[in-house]
Amino acid sequence: MSLHAVLPARLSEEIARRKLWPVLPRRRIAPPAGPPVLALSFDLDYQADTDALPALTDLVDAAGAKMTLFAIGKLAQADPAAYADAHARGHEIANHTWSHPDNPVLNPDREFWHLSEDEMADEIARGQDALAAITGTRPVGFRTPHFKDAAPLRAALRRFPEIRYASSSLASRCPAPVPFVPEAAPRHGDQSLNFPSASPAPNDLLMIPLTPCPGVRWSPFSSYLSIRRPANPAKGAGLHDLDKFETLWRRMLDEERPRGFASVYFDPLDVMRDADTVAVFRRMLDHARDAGWHLTTLAEVERLWRPVAAP
Ligand SMILES: [Zn+2]
Repeated sequence: MSLHAVLPARLSEEIARRKLWPVLPRRRIAPPAGPPVLALSFDLDYQADTDALPALTDLVDAAGAKMTLFAIGKLAQADPAAYADAHARGHEIANHTWSHPDNPVLNPDREFWHLSEDEMADEIARGQDALAAITGTRPVGFRTPHFKDAAPLRAALRRFPEIRYASSSLASRCPAPVPFVPEAAPRHGDQSLNFPSASPAPNDLLMIPLTPCPGVRWSPFSSYLSIRRPANPAKGAGLHDLDKFETLWRRMLDEERPRGFASVYFDPLDVMRDADTVAVFRRMLDHARDAGWHLTTLAEVERLWRPVAAP
């Protein structure tokens, strides 16, 4: 089974660049047996995210869910207790680089997608080492800062055979809106990991794309898009109120359910910021669970979907 769209390469690249795949009919890939899976992930980009982590872990545990925490090595190493506790309670700690180029606090001068392959590999390696020192296991997943993939990333990630998946493509840029094995070689001009391989190998990196927010095909479903404060429409931050956030959540789950898959990320500093927001977020997780979704880690999604993506 190939996930390839039958289109000339340049046309499919243009469709991906403009994030137009969702407006085209896409082939339905039969999901693995079992309930629909919702990959629940959080990006911990600032100390405020680490500070919110103990309460977040309690909330996710109370919802009966598992989550993936994309951790920055440098931040986690400086304040490891909440990461170690989340790991001990069965949540996944995954690699979000060592210093998150271009994090405005940690590494303001570089952008990850402008780094060389060696520099990318160094950011990944230092992140792996720092997180393994906290949890005792090397992460199996990676997410690019700002979801900006670049061609050298494929080669850099290949240096880490323990990394089994990446979660940085936006599903509206992918011909397949479900997990897939990306093409081994970059297309002419294409800088991303958006295209499925025609002949996926069972041990290749799996891309687990992020589900867009309904009606907003340029952004993943996220707290940054909907409720970040201060809001900044020019940066796509904080466009919705809490009611709309919750309404869009239900709509997204309804729309993605037939595929058996969705993947979302939140920032802990957003969803744990005050009692009203925490109450809404708790209702959202409960709604997903009560609607039959299996809320789980990306590592678990990788395990479930790999036989479908690379049979
Ligand atoms: Zn980040």
